[in-house]
Amino acid sequence: MLPFDYARATDVDEAVNLLAADTNASYLAGGTTQLDLMKDGVLAPERLVDITRLPMRGITRDDDGLHVAALTTMEELAADSTVVEDFPLVRQALLLGASTQLRNMATIGGNLLQRARCRYFRDPGVAECNKREPGSGCAAVADSARMHAILGVSERCVALHASDLAVALVALDAVVHLQGMSGRRSVPLTQFYREARTSPDVENVLVHGELITGVTIPFLPATATSGYLKVRDRASYEFALASAAVALVTQDGTIGQARVALGGVGSKPWRSLEAEQVLTDAPANEETFREAAAAAVQGAWTLPGTAFKVELAQRTLVRALRNISGVAQ
Ligand SMILES: Cc1cc2nc3c(=O)[nH]c(=O)nc-3n(C[C@H](O)[C@H](O)[C@H](O)COP(=O)(O)OP(=O)(O)OC[C@H]3O[C@@H](n4cnc5c(N)ncnc54)[C@H](O)[C@@H]3O)c2cc1C
Repeated sequence: MLPFDYARATDVDEAVNLLAADTNASYLAGGTTQLDLMKDGVLAPERLVDITRLPMRGITRDDDGLHVAALTTMEELAADSTVVEDFPLVRQALLLGASTQLRNMATIGGNLLQRARCRYFRDPGVAECNKREPGSGCAAVADSARMHAILGVSERCVALHASDLAVALVALDAVVHLQGMSGRRSVPLTQFYREARTSPDVENVLVHGELITGVTIPFLPATATSGYLKVRDRASYEFALASAAVALVTQDGTIGQARVALGGVGSKPWRSLEAEQVLTDAPANEETFREAAAAAVQGAWTLPGTAFKVELAQRTLVRALRNISGVAQ
């Protein structure tokens, strides 16, 4: 790890000022992504601004939804009584991620900004990585690795967005709150991330210095059923090969409202309005679910190593919809 300056901010304004003053500075929250990447020589910030002492921790609720401050840990959010009762897909997405030790360190803001798990991005010995070095190429496309993305990718970059929580939150229309040198703003999470297809090195709409201060998660209708299904190579401590966050409001066998997002397959958490359109006003049955799944993977761009994910993502989505609707196979 290269030497770096360390500064601990005591309030939000100070943190934003410290970061904005140095174009090669980064925030440090739980450190479970940031420090890994620094130790591996992938990132080399000149300064780390420690935000862990900022007053940005805790969970409240009102009519607008659940308000989660950015330094709340993954474990704290999973254990929150409102999450347990009203947001099963958020709880499942959190508890199916990482390990208990990591979830006790990892913050919600850091989780949403975790970096790609692409092994080429994470290996500075590999020269071709458009995410690390724009214009250098993409070594991953010549490989048969299975963990890459198939949606929102191209020959320029196939890196996967790995957060489970973000998949649940885009399905729920969560809003992320930011504070920077130009003041405060709120951005729907569905508009927060950028696809690797366009600019692999720019992963989201954050301006340098902007701090995530919190996230608001609106409630689903009281009659909705919802869930998060994660399919992976081993039962725990593993990233998703494919996952689905789903919610349905069904009356007399007909779907009135649907939310669908896919994980493990996109360069960003993949909300599928196409699948939702198929589901809405349709009968809640296997045929509808399969049609929605086919719509969700439209436009997939695959490599020999990732082609299986087109089928896997569809099966994962159909199973998730079956699970929450009680429709038998
Ligand atoms: C072995 C392992 C397994 C894992 N498995 C999973 C998994 O299955 N599913 C899953 O979803 N995740 C998984 N993760 C990722 C883990 O959830 C993230 O590393 C963690 O959530 C990041 O949070 P942090 O607080 O440690 O962030 P940090 O590492 O401190 O920061 C991450 C990034 O976010 C920036 N940042 C942090 N907070 C803010 C803020 N408030 N505003 C602006 N920028 C900020 C930092 O500058 C940095 O760029 C795994 C991680 C590891 C190491």
